[in-house]
Amino acid sequence: MIDLRSDTVTRPTPAMLQAMSAARVGDDVYGEDETVNALQERAATLFGVEAALFFPSGTMANQVAIKIHTQPGDEVLCGETAHIYRHEGGGIAVHSGCSVRLLPGSHGRYTADTVRRNINRSGDAHYPCTRLVAIENTVNLAGGVCWDLAEIDRIRALCVEHKLAMHLDGARLYNAIVARGDSPADYGRRFETISICLSKGLGAPVGSLLLGSRAHLGAAHRWRKIMGGGMRQAGYLAAAGLYALEHHVARLALDHARAARVGAALATLPWVAELAPVETNIVICRLAPAVATELVLAHLAGAGVQALSIGEGVLRFVFHLDVGDEDVEVVLAALRAYR
Ligand SMILES: *Cc1c(COP(=O)(O)O)cnc(C)c1O
Repeated sequence: MIDLRSDTVTRPTPAMLQAMSAARVGDDVYGEDETVNALQERAATLFGVEAALFFPSGTMANQVAIKIHTQPGDEVLCGETAHIYRHEGGGIAVHSGCSVRLLPGSHGRYTADTVRRNINRSGDAHYPCTRLVAIENTVNLAGGVCWDLAEIDRIRALCVEHKLAMHLDGARLYNAIVARGDSPADYGRRFETISICLSKGLGAPVGSLLLGSRAHLGAAHRWRKIMGGGMRQAGYLAAAGLYALEHHVARLALDHARAARVGAALATLPWVAELAPVETNIVICRLAPAVATELVLAHLAGAGVQALSIGEGVLRFVFHLDVGDEDVEVVLAALRAYR
């Protein structure tokens, strides 16, 4: 099966497994796992920030970040398709006791002007205190589109003016970095905290990182423990992350090129009504109204291709390091054969 449901499905390569099994480990709850420490130091250096913390999942990294920036009763602003709101089990309410204001925008990207109109007047007891602005880059449910640094800068200026923290859900930030030719430090200096997933396109089996100042990460370290995310000989997993940062970043461009080919083919098919912009490794299309999602999925499965339905009549194809050029040919043939 060519599994395009997500980039989370990758398995460690033989070289990554070798790096994992050779890892020097210790008890990370005591701060004694040298491979975890090396990963955290490497990531902090890459992003030009003071500190990084290894997490078992991106969800936990995001939720801990939201927790350290807010108090119960505060309000979080995020895009209307945001993973932190839609796909983290209502964690913002559970862990942080915050309300959420969903900002409309283009493909999950909102503007500084929209942020400005949604910041509650402070000093008026009617309103929750707006405290945190969260950006997702790339935007998962909008087809993996990237944010413009110029818009992030306009939002940043507003946040400084209103004393709001900014968190970047960068589960696929490296896809944006590679697609745009930016550097990790371009993001490190613009946000209070950033989460990145090592277990998506980067191909590690488990793990995410939270990046930020020593003060923020000190608070995050405590909340990671409270949420049960303190791990022991986690260096075996951190070794996969270190390997991924070294060997699996530049190759993301291959995933983007493959996604672009499949996107271009989908755009020509009569049974596809709409295609989200294909900027990175995700392709999302809306089927024509008369076309049944289950029939398309069954046809693709029959040809050895798994895609994901992410809503009525909406399909997602995600490219990753277990999908090669020969697989793309199979996918293209399967798509063109559907009638
Ligand atoms: C995958 C993902 C996460 C984190 O997911 P985990 O499965 O918990 O690691 C967070 N944000 C976005 C946008 C994602 O796609």
